[in-house]
Amino acid sequence: MPWVQVYSAANALEAHSLKGMLGSQGIEVMLKGESLSSAAGELPPDIVAVTLWVDALQESKARQALEAYEVQSETVWYCSHCQEENGGSFEVCWQCNTPHDET
Ligand SMILES: [Zn+2]
Repeated sequence: MPWVQVYSAANALEAHSLKGMLGSQGIEVMLKGESLSSAAGELPPDIVAVTLWVDALQESKARQALEAYEVQSETVWYCSHCQEENGGSFEVCWQCNTPHDET
C-alpha cells in the first residue's frame, strides 16, 4: 500500500510525540523531513517542518486521532480557583495547580 501524508508538524518534537501517540493506537508512522535538516547541518531542527506519513489503509484512523489531538490542544479551560486560562493539554492549572477535574 502507498504511504499518505496526514500531518505536517511544526517541529521535530511535535512530530515525535504525535508518532508516539499514533503508535500507541497501533498506527505505524513514518517521519519525513528530519534527515534533510540534519544532513544540511545549518538549520536548527526545530524550524524545519516534519511531515507524518501513514499507510493508506490506516489513513482515516490516523486522521481521526490527529483531529482529536488538535481539538484537545486548542481547547482552553478556565481555572475555578484563580480564573486563569489554561491550554487543553494542561491537566492542572499552571498558575495554582488546581486540577482541571475540579473546575
Ligand atoms: Zn488556577
